[in-house]
Amino acid sequence: MKLESLETLYVEELRDIYNAENQLLKALPKMAKAASSPELKQAFEDHLEQTEEHVARLDEIFGKLDKKPTGKTCQAMKGLIEEGSEMMNHDGEEVVLDAGLIAAAQKVEHYEMASYGTVRTWAEMLGEDDAAELLQQTLDDEGETDKRLTELAEEIVNVEAAAGD
Ligand code: FE
Ligand code: FE
Repeated sequence: MKLESLETLYVEELRDIYNAENQLLKALPKMAKAASSPELKQAFEDHLEQTEEHVARLDEIFGKLDKKPTGKTCQAMKGLIEEGSEMMNHDGEEVVLDAGLIAAAQKVEHYEMASYGTVRTWAEMLGEDDAAELLQQTLDDEGETDKRLTELAEEIVNVEAAAGD
């Protein structure tokens, strides 16, 4: 594909995120299952629901652009999810594995935040105001999820540190 315009690049990047979100839809239930902490399980389940909304927002954007959302594989998300599943296959202390799961999930959130920040800005530059608004909403969701995971990590790592005393 020749990237002769910002719009072409914008659509390509949207397809990348679309694929990333769909990969995540399959991974989050497994991460919820693997989590020991009920709060962490809940956080993954809540983010699964949000992720469904993220996909729906992208569908809306593609609908208005009259383009198809499929056709790209997000290699970065593939790798990030792979690292997450390595964590799930480890044996070990529950709290330690939870801390590892959170680390993997936060890398996913940061990747999504970088992507959504980029496409939100491109949408603004292209005069796609409705799309920019939708992408900002998703960016906010990803940011809130990241913060919630940071809080959980602090609690979980504190429990582990206390147990080690
Ligand atoms: Fe998302
Ligand atoms: Fe996310």
